[in-house]
Amino acid sequence: AKEVVRVLVTGAAGQIGYALVPMIARGVMLGPDQPVILHMLDIPPAAEALFGVKMELVDAAFPLLKGVVATTDVVEACIGVNIAIMVGGFPRKEGMERKDVMSKNVSIYKSQASALEKHAAPNCKVLVVANPANTNALILKEFAPSIPEKNITCLTRLDHNRALGQISERLNVQVSDVKNVVIWGNHSSTQYPDVNHATVKTPSGEKPVRELVADDAWLNGEFITTVQQRGAAIIKARKLSSALSAASSACDHIRDWVLGTPEGTWVSMGVYSDGSYDVPSGIIYSFPVTCKNGEWTIVQALKIDEYSRQKMDATGAELVEEKNLAYSCLS
Ligand code: NDP
Repeated sequence: AKEVVRVLVTGAAGQIGYALVPMIARGVMLGPDQPVILHMLDIPPAAEALFGVKMELVDAAFPLLKGVVATTDVVEACIGVNIAIMVGGFPRKEGMERKDVMSKNVSIYKSQASALEKHAAPNCKVLVVANPANTNALILKEFAPSIPEKNITCLTRLDHNRALGQISERLNVQVSDVKNVVIWGNHSSTQYPDVNHATVKTPSGEKPVRELVADDAWLNGEFITTVQQRGAAIIKARKLSSALSAASSACDHIRDWVLGTPEGTWVSMGVYSDGSYDVPSGIIYSFPVTCKNGEWTIVQALKIDEYSRQKMDATGAELVEEKNLAYSCLS
């Protein structure tokens, strides 16, 4: 039998947390033969709700779920975890300055980083979901220096999946036949969803999305804005933010990272930039990656046209600016 894996979910009593923990307990994230112990963390005002979620996990009688730790103590939550999904964060409230929101999140991610640094299992893999996801991940990296930088990532897989979904709807093809879109940059409205390398499996072989859609105005316009603004559209429709799709894409992110991407397919992940594609180094930026043996590698040598270059630079500049803002909150 496989050794049990401990998975931390912070903000576990929240919306995304509520959708995510049953997926993990069912094997959606790590596979149907991987036993797990869930560590759920939330803040004291959410403690009662958190214990309610724990009761439901017991009631669901998941065969793969070998234990549940539900706590408001960050140290207890982090002990021995192999995978950490950071969903908890301070939401932007009406009238709040950007700097105030950043400041709250910087202090949360700094303290959670220190707890992971001291108590997580060696080689713990970290995925940050809470916004501003890229910059929260960067702060976590800075304050958990013993966790290899390769192990600290943020979620842009939801944006990636949204891009696949839009192409599939437009062409009326199965989403599983569409692949290799790229989300570049920040998980914010400056992200650049790029279809220049994306393909669709057709009865007559793999075809470029650009050729099949044959409508550059749509691809360079409405497609991009739809993906960028999908979160807001869902809030408008549901009166609540996207939780099901965020949770599902978090599972996709970890599953592909741990178990590998299919041959010939890449996915988007926010990772610590090494300067590939002339992206500034020292920020967490979303790149196309392939995964094998539990490690991601940035896909190299994709051809970047002038239009893409400009969009990639703009989202990179925003991340540098966010980084500076975050650092100004530290001092
Ligand atoms: P959600 O579960 O809906 O969202 C959690 C975080 O994920 C938010 O930061 C949200 O950003 C972010 N997020 C990233 N991508 C998406 C996406 N595609 N759709 C929606 N959200 C996305 O929030 P809840 O308020 O329901 O739950 C948050 C939990 O965190 C609560 O249980 C709360 O108690 C806890 N919390 C923990 C804190 C701490 O650890 N100190 C501090 C504050 C709260 P965005 O805000 O931009 O939507």
